Amino acid sequence: MRKQGELALPGEELAVIEEFMPGDGTYEDEGKIRSAITGKIFYDMLNRKSNVIVVKKSPLINLRKAKYMIGVVDSITGENARVSVYAVEEKNVGDSISAILHVSQIANKRISSISSYLKPGDIIRAKPITSRIPISLTTKPNDCGVILAKCSICGTLMTREDEEHLRCPYCNNIETRKIGLYAVKKNGRKTSQKE
Ligand SMILES: [Zn+2]
Repeated sequence: MRKQGELALPGEELAVIEEFMPGDGTYEDEGKIRSAITGKIFYDMLNRKSNVIVVKKSPLINLRKAKYMIGVVDSITGENARVSVYAVEEKNVGDSISAILHVSQIANKRISSISSYLKPGDIIRAKPITSRIPISLTTKPNDCGVILAKCSICGTLMTREDEEHLRCPYCNNIETRKIGLYAVKKNGRKTSQKE
């Protein structure tokens, strides 16, 4: 038996019919209960008649409603950046979700080359504009964009310099980004820490 709350994939065996009744999001197949959807497993042990197993739709299905996502830029090819989303709003997702950020969705102004505004390894906050995987993202809103980046020369975490520049506190290298709610202030402290 799998654990309560674990992620189930379609077709995956969850229990046998002697233990559980198939509930929402599941189906029976030759005495075995399998998941019909991608979602979270819920073993209902307190149902009056019998134990019921239900698979609830996971955040993966409700991506369209997410206000923002947090991900890391994996690579940049041509007009697209490939992003691995590891959190939807405040919730971590088990396996990262693949997403795409197109050059036209980076900022409200015209950008000719992605790599002058985004680099592999950058952590971004972005808004989903589609829900099918790979998800299309936008970083146009003010609170979206790069939230953490390392200096491409020496690897030190950079601090926010102005609207669209980050400075490396170690080698003074300055780089351009579409900046979101950036996580490190000039003094190197995390924004969330109390002064
Ligand atoms: Zn540096």
